[in-house]
Amino acid sequence: MIRVQNLSKKFADNIVLNGIDFEVEHGEIVVIIGPSGTGKSTLLRCLNYLEIPTSGMIEIAGVKVDSATATATQITNLRKKSSFVFQNYSLFSNKTALQNVAESLITVWKEPKSAALKHAETILRQVGLSEKINQYPSQLSGGQQQRVGIARAMAAKGEVILFDEPTSSLDPEWVDEVLAVMKQLAVQKQTMIIVTHEMQFAREVANRVIFMEGGNIVEQGTPKQIFENPQHQRTKEFVGRSA
Ligand code: ADP
Ligand code: MG
Repeated sequence: MIRVQNLSKKFADNIVLNGIDFEVEHGEIVVIIGPSGTGKSTLLRCLNYLEIPTSGMIEIAGVKVDSATATATQITNLRKKSSFVFQNYSLFSNKTALQNVAESLITVWKEPKSAALKHAETILRQVGLSEKINQYPSQLSGGQQQRVGIARAMAAKGEVILFDEPTSSLDPEWVDEVLAVMKQLAVQKQTMIIVTHEMQFAREVANRVIFMEGGNIVEQGTPKQIFENPQHQRTKEFVGRSA
């Protein structure tokens, strides 16, 4: 469902992504691990064209964009195919949980407002926040805010949800409830690409783990292969440190 070919990104002279190739199947849960500064966030951001690749081709659910020939329409279409869950939630602070989730239903998907609010309420129920729909982000715990963030990504109806360290900003007490919502999405066969340091979660939930370093995919495989029998020296070191 997702195909990335020869994806490169430079910031000035800094080569952050160095000709990345990979594919993701429908319903697959891919976890990306690797040291910080390795290009994991940049990779996710390029998939959504939040960051414009320096070169390379990205195809998601039939929408294909080559950075050399990308048009505004292609980029708009590609952006609709994925949705983002950010480390820092990035909710609208002046909107309630319900309004945050309804936003894209109204503006992107043109649902009538009353239908969008009903739909948003249903999604918030799925992430366990029925009681909190009229609260503003500042009135919610970190875990609740991030569950709104996930609900908002669900509402965006992307074929794939991209998670960039979704639990890294959370107090430890809120991590499990966010991971539980992600596990529930995994059971529903929601395609997901997840950058995380939660190795236990990766072992349990990922179909595939990608180890990245220095703008390259060093190694990828099942969680068992990557965590128990890594082939590459750098993977061994990283996984050994994180265990
Ligand atoms: P990771 O998510 O693996 O920690 P990032 O993708 O955030 O890595 O960053 C990879 C490299 O790209 C880092 O060296 C970072 O400083 C650089 N970088 C990321 N975003 C920008 C930007 N907007 N401008 C300049 N350099 C950037
Ligand atoms: Mg990052």
